[in-house]
Amino acid sequence: MAHIFFDHISTTPLDPRVFEEMKPYFLEWYGNPSSHIHDQGQAALKAVDAARTRVAGLIHARPQEIVFTSGATEANNLAIKGAAEAYEKRGRHIVVSEVEHFSVMNALLPLRNRGYEVTPLKVDSDGKADPEDVRRAIRPDTILVSVMHANSEIGTIEPVAEIGRIAREREVLFHTDATASAGHIPLDVEAAGADLVTLSAHNFYGPKGVGALYVREGVRLASQIDGGFQERGFRAGTENVPGIAGMGAAAAIAKEEMAPWAGKLRRLGKRLWDGIGATVSHLHFTGHPVDRLPGHVSFWVEYAEGESLLLFLNVHGVMAASGSACSSNLRGRDEEDLVASPVLRAIGVPSDICTGSITFSLGKGNTEEEVDSVLRVLPVIAKRLWEMSPTYLDYQKQKVQGGG
Ligand code: PMP
Repeated sequence: MAHIFFDHISTTPLDPRVFEEMKPYFLEWYGNPSSHIHDQGQAALKAVDAARTRVAGLIHARPQEIVFTSGATEANNLAIKGAAEAYEKRGRHIVVSEVEHFSVMNALLPLRNRGYEVTPLKVDSDGKADPEDVRRAIRPDTILVSVMHANSEIGTIEPVAEIGRIAREREVLFHTDATASAGHIPLDVEAAGADLVTLSAHNFYGPKGVGALYVREGVRLASQIDGGFQERGFRAGTENVPGIAGMGAAAAIAKEEMAPWAGKLRRLGKRLWDGIGATVSHLHFTGHPVDRLPGHVSFWVEYAEGESLLLFLNVHGVMAASGSACSSNLRGRDEEDLVASPVLRAIGVPSDICTGSITFSLGKGNTEEEVDSVLRVLPVIAKRLWEMSPTYLDYQKQKVQGGG
């Protein structure tokens, strides 16, 4: 059976070159960077410093501005809670787009409980935030604006440079979550006007369990983990040296190879997009048609549950992701059972006919043949699901009765 991995937005396979660079720090150089009085510690410290330089290079930052974390979730928590607490005296108002990842949205909950106010920024039907809305949302007590660089679920790239410029004019910190985009499309922290940027290694062919927060020099953050003084006091705890070395290697490779990867992925993505559009009826693409991540194709199909599509795709050896169902009404489930996708809701997908979306996210290892295999099975699966859907059968009946 085929084994087609179209879910690179959830994670990417480790590049074997990255693994080679990690290996010595498991078995040979196992020292603790804080114990740099001896050779083992020195080797570990050197590895962490080298990785810091490489990760900084990916986003045109300075090495001392990179804080290693356990991943994007921790980096987002540190950015949001850390900035909110450090700048509390200046104000308690935060502006965020309504399509942020849960690790941003849920980091705001304890702050809200402590009296911080959050203004959600609406997005248009392609999922884009309007920089002018950011300007309007900023108040004298605003301390932070957070808008992601690209959306995992619908692929849309946000106008971060314009938003960053406005935030800077108003002397408000700007955080962007670049988990989905870093290593895939260029990101320059200066051009983006970003003060805080979230990165995740496993999203660009690096290892899991390691990420980073870019913290512009001079920006203060309240540490969210109490302990020692690693990472300049921003993040206590012995560093994940093999993981950090892996993130550095992955960043260096991505910097070199991002442009050819993106070229290939754009080509494959277009083939998939055009093919799906031509062969599957009742289909609605989501996200911006042009300003989107390379190789990212997302859509929903009327009368076909996203989860069912995924299960059938998996039976055919095709692995993809689903934005959760918009509505449980068609399935007669309780509201409690429903995990609605805030992103689909935010872009105005109608809850009465959409029961979940699909995200195909291609990676550098995918091929045209794999795209063509998916194009062969998807229409068959959709037809099979429609035949099992009472609402589709009702729709067909109405069509016949209406003569349409
Ligand atoms: N931000 C975005 C945009 C994401 O898509 C994700 C999930 N991959 C995260 C943050 C959290 O990443 P992780 O689960 O790797 O910490």
